[in-house]
Amino acid sequence: MAVLGIPQNTIDILKKYDIHFQKKFGQNFLIDTHVLEKIIRAANITKDDFVLEIGPGIGTMTQYLCENAREVLAVEIDKNLIPVLGDTLSEYQNVTVQNEDFLKMDIVQIAQEYNGGNPIKVVANLPYYITTPIIMELFESRVPLESVTVMVQKEVAERMQSKPGTKEYGALSLAVQYYAEAEIVANVPPNCFMPRPNVGSAVIRLTCHKENPVKTGDEKFMFRLIRASFNQRRKTLQNGLVNDAGLSLTKEDVQRALEQMGLPSTVRGERLSLQEFAKLGDLLNKEISI
Ligand code: SAM
Repeated sequence: MAVLGIPQNTIDILKKYDIHFQKKFGQNFLIDTHVLEKIIRAANITKDDFVLEIGPGIGTMTQYLCENAREVLAVEIDKNLIPVLGDTLSEYQNVTVQNEDFLKMDIVQIAQEYNGGNPIKVVANLPYYITTPIIMELFESRVPLESVTVMVQKEVAERMQSKPGTKEYGALSLAVQYYAEAEIVANVPPNCFMPRPNVGSAVIRLTCHKENPVKTGDEKFMFRLIRASFNQRRKTLQNGLVNDAGLSLTKEDVQRALEQMGLPSTVRGERLSLQEFAKLGDLLNKEISI
């Protein structure tokens, strides 16, 4: 079977099946074998692993996954690509292709069925229009996860990895770092894809924490605070929280909590670490319940 990471082989398959790229599905297919090998290495795939791939496209990375993993489930939304995948993956006995919208699937059930409920690895060149919903769905579904190694827009990868006080730091950084250790493992230029995207890309590996790095009495409330703080980035944290009607917090509530934490009332959300948001959440939760 022709290795699809080689551009001419991808062109031949697209011609053979008269495939036209679907922009609405974020289709940018990888055509660089070095990048593909790097992703497989970064994900540390072994013959013991079950791997879930989101958006296999014409099966370029799927071929590498099949070579290296025990079993692969590839979920592709575009029905036109299913016959192509039947062809490009015909040599492999360890792959299942499902024609589904990943966001509508029961991932916990997938881990149960394919991996006996043990932590799974996710590897994907993600469709950029739904990167954040896919990543948050993986974490919030509470599916047992070992790692998520994905190609995303460079700017999004930087936001996931960034630390307090930087301009990229925000709600996405905190959400991702609550669940995983984030590390950018490769920067990938547009010419490694067909068609070329008009943004730079990066491969990021999210290694899931065995235990959450912070303890909070109310995770949902902590994330509501985080969202409210970054919704109004230019405002102080205090104004951001008080202006969010859904939170019903008074200026005095927030001032008291910040004081207890030794933080000035003028502090901005982007200065607070995950630990500090957890602490603030617990203090404010007490205020509300009094
Ligand atoms: N993995 C291939 C590669 O690296 O060449 C293709 C990657 S392309 C960036 C993203 C793929 O995700 C496309 O094949 C697209 O059709 C598919 N896709 C988009 N939205 C999806 C969804 N909601 N569920 C499953 N697949 C989706």
